[in-house]
Amino acid sequence: MSDDDRLVSGRKGSGDGLNIDAALRPRTLDDIYGQERLVENLRILIEAAKSRGEALDHILFYGPPGLGKTSLSHVMANEMGVNIRITAGPAIERAGDLAAILTNLRKGDILFIDEVHRLGRAVEEVLYPAMEDFALDIVIGKGPSARNIRLKLPRFTVIGATTRLALLTAPLRARFGAVYRLDFYGEDALCKIINRAAQLLDVPIEPAGTEEIARRARGTPRVALRLLRRVRDYAQVRADGVITAAVARDALTLMEIDDLGLDDVDRRVLETIIEKFDGGPVGLETIAAAISEEADTIMDVYEPYLLQLGFLERTPRGRVATPRAYKHLGYQNNRSGQPPLF
Ligand code: ADP
Repeated sequence: MSDDDRLVSGRKGSGDGLNIDAALRPRTLDDIYGQERLVENLRILIEAAKSRGEALDHILFYGPPGLGKTSLSHVMANEMGVNIRITAGPAIERAGDLAAILTNLRKGDILFIDEVHRLGRAVEEVLYPAMEDFALDIVIGKGPSARNIRLKLPRFTVIGATTRLALLTAPLRARFGAVYRLDFYGEDALCKIINRAAQLLDVPIEPAGTEEIARRARGTPRVALRLLRRVRDYAQVRADGVITAAVARDALTLMEIDDLGLDDVDRRVLETIIEKFDGGPVGLETIAAAISEEADTIMDVYEPYLLQLGFLERTPRGRVATPRAYKHLGYQNNRSGQPPLF
C-alpha cells in the first residue's frame, strides 16, 4: 500500500492531497482549534517578540505526526509577518547546504526544520553558533594557510519539529528557548477542524456526519482531513453528495476503519503480539518483521495512538498487548487463559 492510500499515514500529503492540504492549512492562530494551552503560549511569545521588535526565540515542537507542527510554524510566520523557509533534517546533507540557507535569511525570518532529529553531526555543528550567536564560522583555504572567519547572520528563528524528542542531541535541544509538546486532539476540536475544511471544500456535511469522522480520526487533524476527503468521494459516488452519519459510517466501514479509528495495520500489530507472541513482551523490530512494516513507521505513526488508547504498553523488554486490546479485538480470553478483566 502506498503512503497516499494509507489513511493513517504519518507522511505529509502528496498526490491529490497536496493542493488540498495547502488550501486547508490554518492561517492564523484563530484557525487553530484545540491545543488551547499551546496556542495561548504562542500568542504570548508572538506579542512579546513583536512589542520588542525582535525575532522569535527558537522553538521546538514535538509529538506524533499530523498534529499540526508544520501548520503552527506557518501560522507563526504569518502572525509575525515574516518569511518562512522550509527544510528537513535529512534534506540538509552537508554543512555547506545549511550555510547557504542561513546566509539567505533576512532579519526575523523563520527557518522551519522538520525531522530536526535527523540532522547530521557536521550540520549540527554549524547550527549551534548560528542559533546561539547568529554567526557562521567558515574555514577559508586549506592546510597551514587555512583561516577561520566568522560571518554575522541576521537574527532569525529556528522552528524545529520532531516526532522523536529522545533522539535530539542534548546540545541541540538546549538551544531551543521554548519546547512544546503537541497532544492528540479531542473530538470537539476535530469536529471544528472537519467543519472548517468541509466549508472550504464546499462539501455538505451534517453534524452527525462530522462527529462520525471525528470519532475515528485517532485524535489527529491530518487523519480527520484524509477521512473527510475519502468520505466525500463515497458520498458523491454512492449517495447524493451529502455526508450524513450513515454515509460516513458506511464509507469508513468500507475503508476498514473501526469505531476507534484503528485500521488494518493497527490490528495486525496487536494481533501479532497476541497470537504470535502470547501477548508480549516482544521487541518492536520483531513485530515490524512479522507484519512487513518499518519499525520507524510503527513507532511514529501507529504506536502513539495505541498507547494513548491503553491497548499497548511499552516495557523495557518489549511491547505488551493489554486486556483492553484483547477485548476490543474480540478475543475471549487474555494471555493467562482468563477472561478479560472487564
Ligand atoms: P505535522 O507537521 O505535525 O505532521 P501538519 O501541520 O502537517 O502536521 O498538519 C497536518 C494537516 O492537518 C495539515 O494539512 C493541517 O491543515 C491540518 N491541521 C493540523 N493541525 C490543525 C489545527 N489545529 N487546526 C486545523 N487544521 C489543522
